Amino acid sequence: MALVIDGKKISNEIKDELKLKVEKMKEEGKQVTLAVVLVGDDPASKVYVANKKKACEYIGIRSLSYELPEQTSQAELLALVEKLNNDTDVNGILVQLPLPAHIDEEAVLAAISPAKDVDGFHPMNVGKLSIGQKGMVSCTPAGVIELLKRSGIGIEGKECVIIGRSNIVGKPMALLMLKENATVTVCHSRTKNLKEVAKRADILIVAMGKPRFVNKEYVKEGAVVIDVGIHRDENNKLCGDVDYNDVVDHVSAITPVPGGVGPMTIAMLMKNCVESV
Ligand code: NAP
Repeated sequence: MALVIDGKKISNEIKDELKLKVEKMKEEGKQVTLAVVLVGDDPASKVYVANKKKACEYIGIRSLSYELPEQTSQAELLALVEKLNNDTDVNGILVQLPLPAHIDEEAVLAAISPAKDVDGFHPMNVGKLSIGQKGMVSCTPAGVIELLKRSGIGIEGKECVIIGRSNIVGKPMALLMLKENATVTVCHSRTKNLKEVAKRADILIVAMGKPRFVNKEYVKEGAVVIDVGIHRDENNKLCGDVDYNDVVDHVSAITPVPGGVGPMTIAMLMKNCVESV
């Protein structure tokens, strides 16, 4: 029987640990503050922002909310980021993506002070990760490492295959697995013989954005499968990049969707916030 990795439970454990830490910090006179910036009316972004604020409230992090209209100019947004960079009461800055098309996301992310970059997207933090220095780490891949460790799954010496090479998931994931001493292969849309490569994995991490793409033909018997994907299928049901029902009896451990990697992203965001103080 496969271990079904309970991301909801593990993320709640992390949030409870952070809550205690924040209470202690408050006793020492330290307050954690996250500034959340949302531009426009994207409904999904509004839900993400609301969930982040709810997590802040639970842990005891003060959240400052900046909801700007769709037509906000890049200069106005950069001015706000600069103001928050200089505000010593603000520890973390989160600019919710995607930004409206007229704003250059890269320019905005690069303007956030690396010390306050709780999403871990600033080139300085990405660079630090690549040379093994301490910095803010992208939340979703950091969440995957926590899921593996807290589920007692060893990483060192394991053959790890990652499907996907995006800047927010695949690439930082590869660097983190390397840091944990896995042997890492990164696959993408031009990879030849994907099935054979994926089947080499002791730990298969899938972040490709293709609903239920990975079935048991891609998975070695007894492998650990981590599904980062999140989609709504034709029946409006949440599903991942992995065909869960097809692979579940074939693996030693697997993350479900929902309730696997998803809840970990916010927990790790909160962790970055608390650690930025
Ligand atoms: P992305 O930027 O679209 O990247 C997808 C990656 O998958 C690309 O590197 C692409 O290769 C590769 N790929 C696509 N089709 C492929 C194929 N047929 N064979 C092999 N590789 C293929 O996506 P992302 O932002 O990394 O997100 C991936 C998934 O994770 C999405 O479903 C997203 O919603 C989800 N996600 C979840 C969370 C969470 O909190 N749970 C957070 C972030 C993302 P190329 O580079 O060659 O194009």
